[in-house]
Amino acid sequence: MNTSDCLFCKVLERKIPAKVEYEDDKLLAFYDINPQAPVHLLLVPKKHIEKISDLEENHIALTGSLIYKAARIAEKNHWTDYRLVFNNGAQAGQSVFHIHLHLLSGRKMRWPPG
Ligand code: 5GP
Ligand code: ZN
Repeated sequence: MNTSDCLFCKVLERKIPAKVEYEDDKLLAFYDINPQAPVHLLLVPKKHIEKISDLEENHIALTGSLIYKAARIAEKNHWTDYRLVFNNGAQAGQSVFHIHLHLLSGRKMRWPPG
């Protein structure tokens, strides 16, 4: 998919509004429009990568920083228990093809996820 057709690239360019929790030079963290828990954030790299399965070795630091920043955001907000999720592929629940880390918190989580 071209980045100009990508929903999350549009959010990153502020062409689509979002409630932003955190931003730095590498990523944007904003609240999911259809939350699946009392807290539901999406951490989105500024670089357009369609799927986790497309990751290359030079993306290791970037993807690590998504997880690290999720932990720091949770700590700052006193969210002690939370779930971090990447969906890879439509069958696994991916609907936006620009990688993103879900941070879910504020309720008891079930296992296994559906
Ligand atoms: P996926 O299903 O690809 O893992 O996650 C995509 C997420 O993006 C979904 O949880 C969905 O609710 C969220 N989403 C879709 N469109 C928008 C939007 O325009 N704004 C925001 N903030 N979230 C969106
Ligand atoms: Zn994109």
